[in-house]
Amino acid sequence: MKNDRQNSSLTRRNLFKGAAASAAAAGINVITSEASEAQETPETYDAIVIGTGFGGTIAAIALKESGKKILVIERGTFWLTPETLGLPVPPNSPGNPIAQYARDRQMQVQYWPRPDHLLGLIDLLANRYEKGHPQRRYGLHNYRMFRQAHVLTASGVGGGSLIYSNVNLEAKPDLLDRIGLKGIDYDRAKKFMTTYRGRMSAVVTKIPLPPGVTAEQLSSQIVNRDYLLLDRSRALRDAANDVRGQLGIGVEMENWKPLQLSINEYIHDENTTADATHTFCERQGRCMLGCLPAARHTLNKVLFVKALRGNDTRVTLSPESEVRTIDRVDTSYDVTYFDRRNNSEKKKIARAPQVFLAAGVLGTTEILLRSRRDGGIQFSDKLGSGFSTNGDFGAVANGTKRRTSDGKTAKMSVFPTRGPINTCDIRFKSGNQYFTIEDAGIPSMFAKIVHMGLKDRQALLALKDWTSFVGGDTSSTTTSLYESIRQRLSGGKPQDASKDRHATEAELIDDVFFFNAMGEDNANGQFTLKGDDLDLDWPANDPIGGQKCFTVVEDMIKKLSQAMLGEYTPLPTWEGLSGVFKEKTLIVTHPLGGCRIGPTMGEGVVNEFGQVYDGSKKTSDPLAIHSGLFIVDGSVIPGALAANPTLTISAQAIKTVEKALGRPLDMK
Ligand SMILES: Cc1cc2nc3c(=O)[nH]c(=O)nc-3n(C[C@H](O)[C@H](O)[C@H](O)COP(=O)(O)OP(=O)(O)OC[C@H]3O[C@@H](n4cnc5c(N)ncnc54)[C@H](O)[C@@H]3O)c2cc1C
Ligand code: SF4
Repeated sequence: MKNDRQNSSLTRRNLFKGAAASAAAAGINVITSEASEAQETPETYDAIVIGTGFGGTIAAIALKESGKKILVIERGTFWLTPETLGLPVPPNSPGNPIAQYARDRQMQVQYWPRPDHLLGLIDLLANRYEKGHPQRRYGLHNYRMFRQAHVLTASGVGGGSLIYSNVNLEAKPDLLDRIGLKGIDYDRAKKFMTTYRGRMSAVVTKIPLPPGVTAEQLSSQIVNRDYLLLDRSRALRDAANDVRGQLGIGVEMENWKPLQLSINEYIHDENTTADATHTFCERQGRCMLGCLPAARHTLNKVLFVKALRGNDTRVTLSPESEVRTIDRVDTSYDVTYFDRRNNSEKKKIARAPQVFLAAGVLGTTEILLRSRRDGGIQFSDKLGSGFSTNGDFGAVANGTKRRTSDGKTAKMSVFPTRGPINTCDIRFKSGNQYFTIEDAGIPSMFAKIVHMGLKDRQALLALKDWTSFVGGDTSSTTTSLYESIRQRLSGGKPQDASKDRHATEAELIDDVFFFNAMGEDNANGQFTLKGDDLDLDWPANDPIGGQKCFTVVEDMIKKLSQAMLGEYTPLPTWEGLSGVFKEKTLIVTHPLGGCRIGPTMGEGVVNEFGQVYDGSKKTSDPLAIHSGLFIVDGSVIPGALAANPTLTISAQAIKTVEKALGRPLDMK
């Protein structure tokens, strides 16, 4: 075995050089000479967790509670609210405890992009990504552009929870059966969410519900307080009621429902959370950019409280560290990663008998593809196949209106800039396929761009060159910067004299309703490695843009837009913005698959407990696993869920972690 070990690290070293050369040839960031110095003795742990999103946090907390010595590796930094919340802070107060924890350990903290207008967008785009800056190579929002789909994920301690819309939704039981996802226990997943993160809330009103009024009463219009509903929540409810009468044969629609959100809501006479933490939803409409009042149950807070805080040295967090490969050494695994803290890039190896991959669909699939290529560890031939977009589809109804009592129409304001990003849904079934359509907020910092895009596409095209827009102008004087922005935003036209000139962000797009839809695609996207990086494509005879679920969902959104008397308008990536998008391209926020569950390694990469199949035994034993190697993220989900996926990912991660530990998670 000693020889195996020597061989394995020798091979790895050579292959790292090979990988660096091919990456350089492909124009990808390459490993520095300092980084290529491998450390001699690996650090040893009982378990290693890669990634800190939903699966990673569940694994880290469970392992910590079992008293194991663990290493948690995360490529991003801490992200926090810059605001001081609640009561006035006394002088010399230590401030935010997470910031304090990070500072004490020389870990970097970054703050949510702001302010909530066009300059905030510049903050989002310009300050978060820096090509040569080791900690900022991924930004908070990681936008990967593949040929037929762009995939948005998060990078940071807390993973997708940092930018997600807080929705907890179950997939339908017969859909789970159909895609082969067994033993999903949503009650336990919800118990985990509430025990470890906090109570879920329905937030569909402009203010917290007054005593004596419930969200259910508002959904069925049985109290005369309808005006309390957020305008867009009410617009979806009413449009769904209109459309229900016009459904074709084989289409069934459920009633409109408020969503269960992982957000602190202020509850009259029961303000335990708000009183204890001073955080509750202020309807600022920017959940996906980071919540300034810190009302969302993000996993950075959970990880800090349940695994990091205190003097326990059994949990080591290594942020700003990116895992490259995993290799098997006897009964353990060597995880090779780059620690990019303190503006350097050190190559490190950590060893443990248990490894939990939780780097998300893109991260985990990429690590395993690279490990197979570079280290010789064998997996199922299905690795990389079965990617699903979850049927994610976005479109707007532009210029929403209502009928007046004299039979005419008048503008209907739906104010997408206010309230949580998603507040309510309608679910429907067409044939045997399920769909969910939710309202979606548009954060104020996008208002100007959206307004311009809908009113004047040419002006939007003029903004294509963001590099010169940001880089060229920020060093100018304030006057010339503003004049330049004005020129660019108005497409060189003279100053607008209408009331729009002084419209707030909320007013600019108050008649734009944004639909966030999910359905069942064919889950047949294929990941491969291109150079050292991930690539994604679909079979030539079944491109994603032509799959049936998108025709069905577009048809339903057209009906709902019509009910709102607005103009159905798909996203520019789908409709084809001339000269920019040549084919129908999706924007995917709920990527699934790549390392899918299957009953044998002929059909999947992991078994139903997330244990990774051992491809070296594929002919002798199709059920053989790499003992101790688990996947606990969205990459194992074997098909579209037609629902927001985190509750399902969490339920599956709990199942895997309980199998690994051999006992149930403590959820008291
Ligand atoms: C805008 C937006 C809104 C969304 N809203 C919802 C919603 O309301 N409800 C819902 O259910 N879902 C929502 N989602 C989807 C949800 O965020 C994801 O499904 C979920 O985060 C996936 O969880 P995960 O554990 O698989 O991985 P992730 O949460 O993506 O975590 C992966 C982690 O691994 C880290 N990582 C990646 N590669 C490496 C590497 N090589 N080394 C070290 N670390 C690495 C990443 O930085 C990240 O922290 C939304 C997504 C987006 C983008
Ligand atoms: S709407 Fe605003 S305040 Fe409420 S959770 Fe979202 S970001 Fe936080």
